[in-house]
Amino acid sequence: MAQIIDGKLVSKKILENLSDEILFLAQKPCLAVIIVGNDSASKIYVNLKKKKALELGIESIVVEMPETVSQEELLEKIEQLNNDKKVNAILVQLPLPQHIDTKIILEKITPLKDVDCFHPYNTGHIAAGTKPYVYPCTPKGIIRLLEYYNIPVEGKHAVVIGRSNIVGRPLAQMLLNENATVTICHSRTKNLEEITKTADILISAVGQRNLIKANMVKDDVVVIDVGMNRTEDNKLCGDVDFYNVEKKASFITPVPGGVGPMTICSLMQNTFDLYKLQNKNQVT
Ligand code: NAD
Repeated sequence: MAQIIDGKLVSKKILENLSDEILFLAQKPCLAVIIVGNDSASKIYVNLKKKKALELGIESIVVEMPETVSQEELLEKIEQLNNDKKVNAILVQLPLPQHIDTKIILEKITPLKDVDCFHPYNTGHIAAGTKPYVYPCTPKGIIRLLEYYNIPVEGKHAVVIGRSNIVGRPLAQMLLNENATVTICHSRTKNLEEITKTADILISAVGQRNLIKANMVKDDVVVIDVGMNRTEDNKLCGDVDFYNVEKKASFITPVPGGVGPMTICSLMQNTFDLYKLQNKNQVT
């Protein structure tokens, strides 16, 4: 039976420390979130971020813009937030409506306020093996889980399934920077099972329920399940057949309660880290 990697517990500990540090600041860190349109899932995510920020004493500004907003108007708003000294971190909730070029929008955020790590300045640093201002939230949360459970990465074969800019791609690069031997799999990968069977650390970030079955992993594998899917009875589940894979793995993240809490935790930590970078002289 695998040891459960408890993201709820780890994130709680990190956030407790963070909240203690924020308590003594005269001026609080500030996160600005821009949400465009009426997507209900996006609204839920934004509200969760706002609530967590409030709990920690982080100020949050939510900028709601209509579905019909023009690209120019959105760029202007980002420019305004870039220049606002009170705002330390800017997040544009994705996806954006079709008439807006997401790449142009994300590149408008000044790298020092790029809390999600989408700007080429920051992603370029990760790709080059040097330090960005902050690391992307979900991959950062995963690395922290591995650290917390003393799971060695160096020299291990890490197989990352998924190559999105938000999870798979930066995570693979971060694991490489930690000296893992990394294989990236994606929708065009042939013989997925042959590759996953060789993983010491297997990370699935696809969004397909039961993609990873017990016959696809070797004994004692470390399994990190990033996927967020729904069962027939609308319960949250990951990409991994948890019940059967748990019997073979050495460590495994549950869904919910694994990677999810770490993502929001990293967002709060990143907001604070950007605040510190922008106020170097005020923070001891
Ligand atoms: P995405 O749709 O952008 O990327 C999915 C990736 O999976 C793609 O790179 C694609 O090539 C790959 N893929 C698709 N089918 C595949 C297959 N059959 N075999 C191998 N690879 C395949 O998604 P994303 O934004 O990276 O998110 C992935 C999943 O992680 C989703 O379920 C999402 O909800 C979840 N997620 C969770 C968190 C969290 O905090 N827990 C954060 C971000 C994303």
